[in-house]
Amino acid sequence: MVAKMRKKRKKKATHRCALAFMAHPDDVEFFCAGTLIRLARMGWTIHIATATPGDCGTMTANRWSISATRTAEAAAAAVMIGATYHCLDERDGMVVYDKPTVQKTIDLFRRIAPMLVFTHAPKDYMMDHEMVSLLARAGSFMYGAPNISALPRLDNSVVPHLYYCDPSEGIDPLGRTVEPTTLIDISQEIETKARMLACHDSQRQWLRTYHGMEYIEAMKRHGAARGKMAGVGYAEAFVQHRGHAYPHDDLLGELLGKQQDTPGKI
Ligand SMILES: [Zn+2]
Repeated sequence: MVAKMRKKRKKKATHRCALAFMAHPDDVEFFCAGTLIRLARMGWTIHIATATPGDCGTMTANRWSISATRTAEAAAAAVMIGATYHCLDERDGMVVYDKPTVQKTIDLFRRIAPMLVFTHAPKDYMMDHEMVSLLARAGSFMYGAPNISALPRLDNSVVPHLYYCDPSEGIDPLGRTVEPTTLIDISQEIETKARMLACHDSQRQWLRTYHGMEYIEAMKRHGAARGKMAGVGYAEAFVQHRGHAYPHDDLLGELLGKQQDTPGKI
């Protein structure tokens, strides 16, 4: 039985497909793009999905216009690493954990059958992020059940390794620092990550006005703080979901614990 399970785990390790599912266009680029760049360089298939098209991220444009702009920005950032962009077309500030949204999420996972999933921290500064974290947890657990979706069930539809990215500023809503289980060195990817984030040009002004935040500088500052923990220039931090039925081995740490891929391909 144990030998059989080991064999099964080995088979799963060959299915190199990762999904980063977050609430808004630019969240993935901010929180885990460095890690995605490294996986893409290693030949992984990368999918980036957002729950909303970012329809409230503006002080001036109407929701349709800003949605078109922001999904185009997200697609442009994804193209930089050969990733595919998806959007569930929910609404900013209104992402909820209900039957239709859970089904949409499960169908997204069903089409992709990811082995690695990245999502928001369970506790974060805004509710869209927390809802997407729950949705990703539900999607990753359920999508492989034959009766859960009308879409065909792909081979390798197993419960994936699920990783929570840092919450904003690395703190939960009560101001407590999140302790990562996994730190990934992105020192060589930081400038590409910054260029991916810069694709979201519409958000620079919005964040400056509404959040008082300088976008790329804030990303680099946080990456440097996490880098210090890891003893490198820049890092991204993750907490692995280790609940029942989820893989407990730190696949991400095993894959990227050492800077072993070749910089420069992306
Ligand atoms: Zn967000």
